[in-house]
Amino acid sequence: MIYNPKSLRAEEFISHEEILATLEYAQEHKNDRELILSILEKGEQMQGITHREAAVLVTVEDPELTERMFHLARRIKEHIYGNRIVMFAPLYLSNYCINGCVYCPYHAKNKTIRRKKLSQEEIRQEVIALQDMGHKRLALETGEDPKNNPIEYVLESIKTIYGIKHKNGAIRRVNVNIAATTVENYRRLHDAGIGTYILFQETYHKENYERLHPTGPKKDYAYHTEAMDRAMQGGIDDVGLGVLFGLNNYAYDLVGLLMHAEHLDQTYGVGPHTISVPRLCPADDIDTKDFENCLPDSIFHKIVAAIRIAVPYTGMIISTRESKASREKALELGVSQISGGSRTSVGGYVHEESAEENSSQFDVSDRRTLDEIVGWLLDLGYVPSFCTACYREGRTGDRFMSLAKRGQIVNCCAPNALITLKEYLQDYASEPTKAKGVEMIRREIAKVPNPAIRERAERFLLEIEQGARDFRF
Ligand code: SAM
Repeated sequence: MIYNPKSLRAEEFISHEEILATLEYAQEHKNDRELILSILEKGEQMQGITHREAAVLVTVEDPELTERMFHLARRIKEHIYGNRIVMFAPLYLSNYCINGCVYCPYHAKNKTIRRKKLSQEEIRQEVIALQDMGHKRLALETGEDPKNNPIEYVLESIKTIYGIKHKNGAIRRVNVNIAATTVENYRRLHDAGIGTYILFQETYHKENYERLHPTGPKKDYAYHTEAMDRAMQGGIDDVGLGVLFGLNNYAYDLVGLLMHAEHLDQTYGVGPHTISVPRLCPADDIDTKDFENCLPDSIFHKIVAAIRIAVPYTGMIISTRESKASREKALELGVSQISGGSRTSVGGYVHEESAEENSSQFDVSDRRTLDEIVGWLLDLGYVPSFCTACYREGRTGDRFMSLAKRGQIVNCCAPNALITLKEYLQDYASEPTKAKGVEMIRREIAKVPNPAIRERAERFLLEIEQGARDFRF
């Protein structure tokens, strides 16, 4: 199959032969100091590196060169994203699923998991619980089941969520992580006002993909891999990619992931809005020991750094699948968005499940509350941000990228982060978190370079103290 990044056919834009040739090239050059330094030098320009170059970096074993790579990833992260970390929570609507994914406890044959689908009233209760924690941004999750979870159910749920006004709470951005669907359905999701459409590829290796997805609609590799093209054709220009690390050789999937990003960039003029880096976790009838490709933290963090260097303007997301320690390292190396206070069970925010009830998708590693996560981020010197301004101002797709590339993040994202953090502190934070946050805002607001924007932001902060809400640049 000929490799063609602009093709609309999965097997041409994700070429197996090109990936194998890339991995061979990376093995041959993993000790080629001169080449590695030249790739790092190219990375310094913050315009990205190719999948081949990233493959070399992730294959490097020399500790000194690995440290240089980490150093560059940290610099890119700081330059482009500053110290802001965007917060979100997943909301599981239904775990009915007709697929046979061998790594996911939702698989159709699992008779031990409790199946559950939220009614619109239950969604209301879940969302109120999430609003009372302080969340403004959600990622909707469902299994794939056209009878139990048809697109109409997802659309109705989005409408319900956007419509809930409870005290000062509001969900201002709903991202959606549901199975690959048609252009028509993507158009309907777009018209319903979703933020990012997220779909994990799981693995880019076709043969292993088919083995891991033996039954159900998801087994169609091409249909799944071409989903983002259909989403773009349906008008969604913020799409989120991801690989479930642990299912396949990690270097193969890293290269596939970056080829996918290159394909979107070259075909639609805009790369992925986000990349998620989930790792396989134990779950109901899933034992990670059955998966020989599970990776240690050291390699996982190399992957995070390589992605940061390869696609500097793509946000990177990490969930509570990762432990506190692993998240801390990943934040340093490139992650810009994290979930907090997450429950992966259906209805889990209102009612915490006992082990017997079990409807959850995987075992969460980071079990801290959102307030604990916010306090922890502040201690580490980050600004937890509840900002959703870009999407609400229509700055999606290439419009967001152009803002980022013009270096306007400091005059736009930074004050927006502080304003939304202020709302969080006023409405939801514990006293110790509030004290740390107030101090952070005082320090950070002084750094906004444009004086007119700084003054406006200071005025907004005061008005928030007096009860006003929802300001943005
Ligand atoms: N059902 C949708 C689909 O077909 O893409 C997506 C929703 S699913 C709730 C979200 C993601 O959870 C999956 O894409 C998969 O990568 C991840 N996942 C499944 N089983 C997992 C496990 N045991 N550990 C960690 N993540 C898992």
